[in-house]
Amino acid sequence: MQAANKEELALLRSVANKIAREELAPEASWRDLNYSFSREAFDKLAKAGFTGVLTPEDYHGSGGDLTSLVIVLEELAQGCASTALSLLAHLVAAKAITELGSAQLKTSILPALATGEKIAAFAVHEAASGAVAGAIQTRADLNDGHYVVNGSKFFVTNGGVADLFIILVKTDVSKGPEGTSLLLVERKTAGLTVGLQDKRMGMNGTASAEVVFEQCRVPEGNLLGEPGKGVHLVVSLATRVGMPGMSAIALGLAQAAVDRAIRHSRERTIAGQPVSTQAAVQFLVAEMAATVEAMRALLHYSLQEDQPLTSMTAKLFITEKALEVIDKALQVHGGHGYSQEIPIERFYRDARGLKLHYMTSEILKTNIAKSLLG
Ligand SMILES: Cc1cc2nc3c(=O)[nH]c(=O)nc-3n(C[C@H](O)[C@H](O)[C@H](O)COP(=O)(O)OP(=O)(O)OC[C@H]3O[C@@H](n4cnc5c(N)ncnc54)[C@H](O)[C@@H]3O)c2cc1C
Repeated sequence: MQAANKEELALLRSVANKIAREELAPEASWRDLNYSFSREAFDKLAKAGFTGVLTPEDYHGSGGDLTSLVIVLEELAQGCASTALSLLAHLVAAKAITELGSAQLKTSILPALATGEKIAAFAVHEAASGAVAGAIQTRADLNDGHYVVNGSKFFVTNGGVADLFIILVKTDVSKGPEGTSLLLVERKTAGLTVGLQDKRMGMNGTASAEVVFEQCRVPEGNLLGEPGKGVHLVVSLATRVGMPGMSAIALGLAQAAVDRAIRHSRERTIAGQPVSTQAAVQFLVAEMAATVEAMRALLHYSLQEDQPLTSMTAKLFITEKALEVIDKALQVHGGHGYSQEIPIERFYRDARGLKLHYMTSEILKTNIAKSLLG
């Protein structure tokens, strides 16, 4: 992975910002209200190289680092957080193949993911396992060179559109989390079905759906990494890629909310005075701006530290603070902020989902406390 220099990162930010403003933002509310993933928007990200931002150049990616990833996601989320989250799911899955796949899998699959020709999903959560990855029930039994997969995954981002899924399965049912493994399953596999689009509070422009596996025969060579290490690998990918990604999306939403609050407070005039002249509104704007700067600094600090503890504390803090910032921005907008005529209420609904995925805030607190207290 190459660390980009300052100029390269500035260019990347400006390209992502332009796509967010010109291509994503105009349709974001429509996608939200219609529970509609946009393949067209995803293709725009692909054209800019974002679908291969972490993939090595040998596999048609740009070989970027995590700083590049968070800059892209922060900017895209300002236009459409759903599209940013769809990209993150795709990139976590691609990262799993890059780090853990066989040479044959990497050669046959990564180029199509890097160019965005194919879309990937990362599916861990199940109805019964909830927030605890080690409690999954989906099993994959080895039989004659194939894993036979039975089970289902819930709330899978990109579930409705993905060409392939990286799933956590039980390969040894006699063991708990130590009996789990990661497996690549192609959508065309017989026995794989996808449910209807999930209708949720936010992130409605993602193709979120249940994915069901019934007697799916998956080649043994599709195993990613060592068998028995599944939960460990999921946690590692979540802390290194998923959490910074979620933090970046939260940051982008918060930044977009502050920008809108500043604009609105200058334009909204009451009794001949812009509301920006009210000290109460000025204080809200100052608090929001300071919080967003702290969120951004913490996110980049966590990338430098590259430690699970810092990644978890950053994700916990940033996703919680994003809601506070957006709430204040809504307050600055008064009743208009509560209306669907402007996207602040969508920002709030989208940001709320970020506290639930790649470890809920409660699991993060439990893990952080365990790490600090033993
Ligand atoms: C926007 C969004 C996108 C998502 N995308 C994906 C995806 O692409 N792939 C995927 O696999 N999943 C995805 N999910 C699912 C997500 O990972 C789960 O919702 C999450 O793991 C929580 O599981 P649950 O909803 O079943 O909650 P539950 O497990 O039912 O939890 C309920 C409450 O109990 C708490 N809790 C549960 N167990 C513990 C514990 N051991 N210690 C402390 N607190 C606990 C939780 O924190 C929560 O507050 C997504 C979810 C959202 C909201």
